[in-house]
Amino acid sequence: MKVFKFGGASVRDAGSVQNMVNIIAAHKNEKLLVVVSAMGKMTNAFEALLNQVIEEEPAEIPIEEVKDFHDNIIKDLGLVSSQTLREDMEEIYEQLIHGLNGYSSAFGYDFVYDQTVSLAEVISTKIIAAYLNKQGIDAVWVDARKVVKTNSTHRQAMVDWGASQAMIKSQAMPHLEDKVVVTQGFIGSNAKYNTTTLGREGSDFSAAIFATSLGADSVTIWKDVPGVLNADPKKFENTKLYDRLPYKEAAEMTYYGASVIHPKTIKPLAQKGIPLYVRSFQNMQEKGTVIEECQIPNLNPAIIHKDKQTVISFKISDFSFINEAHIYTIFEHVKRLNLTINLMQNSAISFTICMDDDPKRREQLRTALMDEFSIYYNEGLEMITVKNYNQETINELMEGKQVIIEQRSRNNFQMVYKVN
Ligand code: ASP
Repeated sequence: MKVFKFGGASVRDAGSVQNMVNIIAAHKNEKLLVVVSAMGKMTNAFEALLNQVIEEEPAEIPIEEVKDFHDNIIKDLGLVSSQTLREDMEEIYEQLIHGLNGYSSAFGYDFVYDQTVSLAEVISTKIIAAYLNKQGIDAVWVDARKVVKTNSTHRQAMVDWGASQAMIKSQAMPHLEDKVVVTQGFIGSNAKYNTTTLGREGSDFSAAIFATSLGADSVTIWKDVPGVLNADPKKFENTKLYDRLPYKEAAEMTYYGASVIHPKTIKPLAQKGIPLYVRSFQNMQEKGTVIEECQIPNLNPAIIHKDKQTVISFKISDFSFINEAHIYTIFEHVKRLNLTINLMQNSAISFTICMDDDPKRREQLRTALMDEFSIYYNEGLEMITVKNYNQETINELMEGKQVIIEQRSRNNFQMVYKVN
């Protein structure tokens, strides 16, 4: 069996849903489980709805807009007369309104977020399952909240692999014999069946959870790019497509910030040897990229760009040198504040880290360490990592940039620079 994953861009309007259905129809002889995200930018819209309630702001995105967006798609797909779908929609909107109105800080933001924002995925998959059936493709809607089991860390839930595998096998597997299974990405539930989410863009990871639980032959992520490119085509020219990538290489690219696949996706697939295809939903004839166990000599350099970076330097001002005890102290606070270091460097008298811009936590870090160090920081910087670099690529990238930190190892080159 195969797992397909379609992101928001591939179901942003009726035309794209139709295109998705064409892709599924072309594979209807296979056993298929399809993971689908919220439509278009609906997760952002649901987040905005919740934030408006919390900040007691006048609704800039009224709930009607969200309803209209989905209603138009339902209308364009010719699903208006489906009573079941209408009832499902009414029930989901009731849950949404109940969740939003019932917000109380006693529950905590993350909990309410999961109960409400998750509904965008539920709406999307209800519509898609209904449309598949209308088009004569037997589809069954499976509730990921019942089968993807997690702990209770809302918004960043950790998967309970054993429980999820057992549930997915018993609830989804039997349908695969004669139906396409349609389910949600990004969402699951804890032991009390409260909805949890796996972190933004988590649907790729959901596809990997379903695939490993069902022993899938492959996972295909259908995207608006031709596959995995060696750089983001929105930021760099002359990008090159990888036909094949080793798991390790792809996983490391996500670590450095490549956004083509959710970072948690590769590991479970690699452990089970399940190949991951990244293909274009606009061009299903193209093969895209396959990520699998393989060795490829002379891979094209991969260029990964991250914006909104902060560099913080901790300096010793009493003529002693940076030692392990200083670094230990800095790391204690970095860990306490849950910060992620994207790059670090030390010299005789200073220790420097680069992290994503986060003024609030940067201030907390600075306040915690200001008695021991002189602290300097720079925000709004950018960072580029080049995996498998060559000098020519580096020269091109560095041209005209005011580089603040530069580092290279045998395989990787990294620089942090000021934006002109
Ligand atoms: N809809 C969720 C998000 O936008 C999950 C996903 O698309 O992967 O983050």
